[in-house]
Amino acid sequence: MSDDALKTHYDLVIIGGGPGGYGAALYGAAAGLDIALVEKDKVGGTCLHRGCIPAKELLETAHVYRTVGHASAFGVESSAPTLEFGTTMARKQQVVDGLFKGLSGLLKHRKVTVFSGTGTLMADRTVRMTADDGDTAVISGDAVILASGSVPRTIPGFEVDGKIVLTSDEVFELDQLPKRVAVIGGGAIGCEFASMMSDLGSEVTILEALPQILPGVDKDVVNVVLRSFKGRKIDVQTGAMVKGHTPGGTGTSIEIEGADTLNVDAVIVSVGRRPLSDSLGLAGTGVAVDERGFVEVDEYCRTGLDGVYAIGDLIATPGLAHVGYAEAILVIKQLLGEDAIPVDYGKVAWCIYCQPEVAFVGLSEQAAIDAGHDVITTKHRWGGNSRALIIGDTEGVVKIIAEKLPDGTGGTVLGVHMAGPWVTEQLGQGYLAVNWEASVEEIAHFIQPHPSLSESFGEAVLSLTGRSLNS
Ligand code: NAD
Repeated sequence: MSDDALKTHYDLVIIGGGPGGYGAALYGAAAGLDIALVEKDKVGGTCLHRGCIPAKELLETAHVYRTVGHASAFGVESSAPTLEFGTTMARKQQVVDGLFKGLSGLLKHRKVTVFSGTGTLMADRTVRMTADDGDTAVISGDAVILASGSVPRTIPGFEVDGKIVLTSDEVFELDQLPKRVAVIGGGAIGCEFASMMSDLGSEVTILEALPQILPGVDKDVVNVVLRSFKGRKIDVQTGAMVKGHTPGGTGTSIEIEGADTLNVDAVIVSVGRRPLSDSLGLAGTGVAVDERGFVEVDEYCRTGLDGVYAIGDLIATPGLAHVGYAEAILVIKQLLGEDAIPVDYGKVAWCIYCQPEVAFVGLSEQAAIDAGHDVITTKHRWGGNSRALIIGDTEGVVKIIAEKLPDGTGGTVLGVHMAGPWVTEQLGQGYLAVNWEASVEEIAHFIQPHPSLSESFGEAVLSLTGRSLNS
């Protein structure tokens, strides 16, 4: 099961090698802890193998395709781009494999013992590991972290077959791009796949049950994405209740309540993810699991069982790899007896990598009003940003929500919400502003490089002081 078969007790045993689990292993090992990590598949988890990394790699292919398609606007003449999908998928895999190799090497270098098998929790911080061939072994730790992650949710009437009905897991294994695609669920995953496939040439329909796609995202940002999707002929149907589908020929017909039947070659079900707590053997252990399958923890990620923690997608916190990292650090600091500050989940960074990209932190305008704040907002369009004009990508908005001061200018920044070019790379300033509870006046003192995309954030903040430069 591992190279280190004789040793059975560790400072820390971690079940699950995704961002939460490997984050805890790397951070803990860097602080000198002796760590065992139990993983049933490959270290890296959903994020590396079936999530963030392959998705963003394919979205980058879409970016390159768009760029080449628009090259003649720069006087760069080339023939119209065509897609060699085999090469696209091979490059995606090459990036994933490279990162997997790097992560495996890093764990080894930090002397983390990686066991291959499914871990279940037993009494006294003991973990039983069952390998694929049925072999079992038992190890124990002074502490245990449960980090077994999540899997895609499915919906009745849409059984996943890997050919016509897919989840994000299967999309990354496609050997050809479907001509007509229905994406059920217009959340982060749905919008990323819809955007990527449409840019690569598929005919895409989003079927979202709620009245708007990207629920929870600021309305002005959602409107930017909607306008762009519509302009690129992505059919967005909101309030769409899917009833089932009837396969026929090479594809299937989707029945939608009160709407025409939709004929497509593939259906991508992206209606959220569910925690993978079933295989952990938690019944009767003292670790509570809620009715949705999330392991219950307090703000320090402590379960009801002394010395047993849970982090990442397994608990009911934002399902983001970087939140898993933060929770990993939070737990390791406690094990080291250091000051540990709980994660402020209302102020984590959200990034959605569709075209146009979406990035935000803190309260949306509506959420700020609902929370009782007297707010002032400003919206800056990319059309006024020199760098955006230079790169030829002016779609989107930078919106800042601040507390309104008695003189009508902005005070503390409550939220930064953006859509547009490379905003996922630009959110850092907004993230620090909101989390440091910085005021508009304080941030306006700092200088932005010119010309740069980040100037729009600076300009937007400056305008909330009641004066501005270029806008
Ligand atoms: P989600 O919860 O973000 O969105 C699911 C969407 O499906 C919602 O809009 C919901 O209203 C809709 N829906 C649910 N049931 C439906 C039905 N029967 N018919 C039509 N629509 C239905 O979930 P997701 O997009 O699948 O993402 C899952 C998780 O992965 C989330 O935690 C997300 O934060 C994370 N994720 C994040 C990113 C990112 O931040 N870039 C990218 C991918 C995934």
